Amino acid sequence: MSDIKTIGIIGAGTMGSGIASSAAISGFKTFIYDVNSGAVMNAIHKIVHGYDILFEKGKINDEKRKLASGKLTGVNRLEEFSECDFVIEAAIEDMKLKKELFQKLGKITRADTILATNTSSLSITVISTALEANRERIVGMHFFNPANIMKLVEVVRGEFTSDDVVRKTVSLSKLLSKTPVICKDTPAFIVNRVARAFYGEALKIHAEESLPIELIDRIIKEEGGFAMGPFELMDLIGIDVNLSVTKSVYEAFFYDQKYKTSPIQQKMVDAGLLGRKTKQGFYKY
Ligand code: NAD
Repeated sequence: MSDIKTIGIIGAGTMGSGIASSAAISGFKTFIYDVNSGAVMNAIHKIVHGYDILFEKGKINDEKRKLASGKLTGVNRLEEFSECDFVIEAAIEDMKLKKELFQKLGKITRADTILATNTSSLSITVISTALEANRERIVGMHFFNPANIMKLVEVVRGEFTSDDVVRKTVSLSKLLSKTPVICKDTPAFIVNRVARAFYGEALKIHAEESLPIELIDRIIKEEGGFAMGPFELMDLIGIDVNLSVTKSVYEAFFYDQKYKTSPIQQKMVDAGLLGRKTKQGFYKY
């Protein structure tokens, strides 16, 4: 039996809402906080709508639908996370902001509350330095998009993370019906590091050979056996999120040209063409 009963999620965007959906349907009391209170309302609406669809498809019964919806609470202040046993931070990919949030969490939460970050690429060890004491409770818990559906979770052990915290994060992942994989605190961990080439090479081929994105996506899916093409996937992830991750990996590997960012993505971010979430990215939605 898990001693984790209450989970706090920071960030009610693409990832925070998917993680909260998994947490609530797995029976955890789930708090959601975002600087933008509208984002919290939207996330709860989206999650409950997702449960309705599961019910209509016969995948959950009415009791489970009501129980899961009742587990969700939106909060306006981070201070309301004081009773959480486990916190998962899924705010934007920015080291300064994440450190500020963890510094606050260090003061708000109990000393044994596990503090996880869903960062895609930033160092867990560096984020841990936001805490003056009890740094062993900070861990990476990297979900994949859409987080309510994708099974893999990379559990990232920072330099300070204790074995007990890794063990509890692995068991929580299993309770959320995920498949955890423990990995080291290296830039972008496993999947996102491998995936840099998937996006980067596709962007280069598109720019250098003037190949249409539709063609590249189609070939990769039909002939490569991938579920999504690189441009469709960048739109799903968010062009801003993908660019931040690429930039941080590029920096972390001392500007190795292999990880160089693309001006195409920078231009799209500057123009607010962020993918599905803004209804336009490489494709229109
Ligand atoms: P998003 O832009 O969809 O959502 C981020 C949310 O964080 C927004 O609602 C924003 O209002 C909120 N936010 C910003 N500053 C905040 C603060 N100080 N306090 C509380 N909330 C704040 O981003 P996302 O795609 O959900 O990514 C969130 C994190 O998850 C990032 O670290 C990202 O790298 C990581 N991640 C993203 C994906 C993906 O495919 N999008 C996959 C795995 C991990």
